[in-house]
Amino acid sequence: MRKKSDQRPGYFGPYGGRFVPETLMAPLDELARSYDRVTRRRKFQRRLKNLLTNYAGRPTPLYFAERLSSTLGGVRIFLKREDLLHTGAHKINNAIGQALLAREMGKDRIIAETGAGQHGVATATAAALLGQTCTVYMGEEDMRRQRLNVERMRLLGAEVVRVDAGSRTLKDAINEALRDWVTNVRTTHYVLGSVLGPDPYPRMVRDFHKVIGQETRRQLRKQVGQDWPHLAVACVGGGSNSIGLFSAFLEESRTRLIGVEAGGSGQELGEHAARFRGGRTGVLHGTKTMVLQDRHGQIAATHSISAGLDYPAIGPEHALLHDEGRVEYTAVSDAEAIEAFHLLAATEGILPALESAHAIAEAVKHARHLSSKKVVVINLSGRGDKDVESVLDYDAEKSESERQEAGADRHPAETWKHVVWGGDR
Ligand SMILES: *Cc1c(COP(=O)(O)O)cnc(C)c1O
Repeated sequence: MRKKSDQRPGYFGPYGGRFVPETLMAPLDELARSYDRVTRRRKFQRRLKNLLTNYAGRPTPLYFAERLSSTLGGVRIFLKREDLLHTGAHKINNAIGQALLAREMGKDRIIAETGAGQHGVATATAAALLGQTCTVYMGEEDMRRQRLNVERMRLLGAEVVRVDAGSRTLKDAINEALRDWVTNVRTTHYVLGSVLGPDPYPRMVRDFHKVIGQETRRQLRKQVGQDWPHLAVACVGGGSNSIGLFSAFLEESRTRLIGVEAGGSGQELGEHAARFRGGRTGVLHGTKTMVLQDRHGQIAATHSISAGLDYPAIGPEHALLHDEGRVEYTAVSDAEAIEAFHLLAATEGILPALESAHAIAEAVKHARHLSSKKVVVINLSGRGDKDVESVLDYDAEKSESERQEAGADRHPAETWKHVVWGGDR
C-alpha cells in the first residue's frame, strides 16, 4: 500500500507534479481549487449524473459475452460497453464533466487537443450541449488521416485549428492548446483528454471516469453474485479508461489488473508505444512519468495501429501502479489487435475500437488458462466504426504478403481461428 510520503498533493509517488512554465501555475492553482470545491457540491454531481444518464447513455451495460466465452474455453467474459455511449467511446464521461466544471467556473470558451479526433469530437459535443464556444487543436498530419472526425467537429460548431509544428501530431497539438490557454485563461478552460498533464488533470480526469468501475461493481454483484472480477483488462493510451475501471478494484487483492499498451509492429524504439518496454522517467507535457525517449532524452517517435494508444508518455498514476506491482502492464501487437477485432466481430457481432481490441487480445491469452468459474471483465472503451478503413488496409496488406509468401488466400475474418494465442511474445 502507498506510504504517507507518497501523498504529496498532485503526485503519485515520485510521478506527476506540475512541470510547467510559471505562467501556467496560477491557472492550474485556480483549476485545482475550483475542481475540489465545485465537484463536492451536490448540485454539480446531480447535473453531471443527469447528463451522463439521459444524454450520454449511462449506465452502460455489463454484457456477458457468451459466444466469445465458450469459444475461449468457458471462462466468463464480461464486456463493459463504453462503446455504446454517445459519440462512441468513454471520452464523453470526462468531456461532459470538464465542460460542466468550466461553466461553474464562469468560462464560456473551451479548448482541447486531439489526436485521432475522438477526444475532439467528445469535447465539441459537450460544448454544443452546454452552449460554449469550442476550439480544437489538431496536428496537420492527424487532420489528413482523420478527415471524418474533423468534419464531425466542425458540424458540431467547433473551430478546428491546424497545427503545423513538429511532427504535426498529438504532442504538438497539446503544446498549442497549452499556449492558447496561457493567453486566454480568463475566459477559457482547457479540457485535457486523458490522465496526463500537470496536476490536477491526472486525478480530475480519473475521477470523471471512476463511474466505469463503480457501475461494474454494482453490475457484477447483481449478475454474478460477487462484486469483483478475477481479472480486469483495459487498454492504456494515456490511461483514462483503464484507471476508470481499475480504481474500483485497487483495494481488492483478489482482482488481477492488467493494462495493455500498444506493442505496435516491433520491439525497436519507434515501432511501438509501450512505455514500460524501454521507456524511462522523464517529463512530458507538465508531468513526470514514464516516457519513450532516445538516449539524448528526445521524445521518441511511436507507432500503433490504434491512434488512441499512440502516445510516448503514460499517465503518472500508472507509472506508480506499475512500480507498486498493483497493476501489470503488457503489450499487444498490431497483428494481435487486428485478430481480436475479427474475433469479437465474428463471435459477438461487435466491432471494437482498435484500442479496445488490444484489451480483448490480452484477455484471450489468459482465458485459456483460467477455469470456467472465473470472471473476466474487459473494458470495451469504444466502438470500431472509425477503424474499419485501418482494418481493411491492414488485412489487404497482410493477405498480399501472405499470397506472395505461401500462396494462401483465405478471408481475413477467418484468420483468428488459425492463430495460436500463446503467452507473451
Ligand atoms: C482515446 C481512446 C483510448 C485511449 O485513451 P485512454 O486515456 O488510455 O483511455 C482508448 N480507447 C478508445 C476507444 C479511445 O478513444
